[in-house]
Amino acid sequence: MRTGKIIEINCRCGFHLFRYFKAGKGRLIKCLISRFTDDFVGLKGAETFSRPLCPNCSKELGIIMMIHGEPALKLNQGTIESIRI
Ligand SMILES: [Zn+2]
Repeated sequence: MRTGKIIEINCRCGFHLFRYFKAGKGRLIKCLISRFTDDFVGLKGAETFSRPLCPNCSKELGIIMMIHGEPALKLNQGTIESIRI
């Protein structure tokens, strides 16, 4: 069985951006888009190297990259707050 935790990801403005299944330990730096359990921004189908914005305050959330052939969001640590639940 895979171990991991669901993490709530919020913008610093308080907007609830995503819920993410994180495997393993450590700080959240990159998120595979296929592992978002809830996506309130609409990242599915976003283009590589696009920079999604918070729908509420328009800050950059990070950049979409390919990691091992899968799209992922590299988080902008200045904009994102994450909470383990
Ligand atoms: Zn925001």
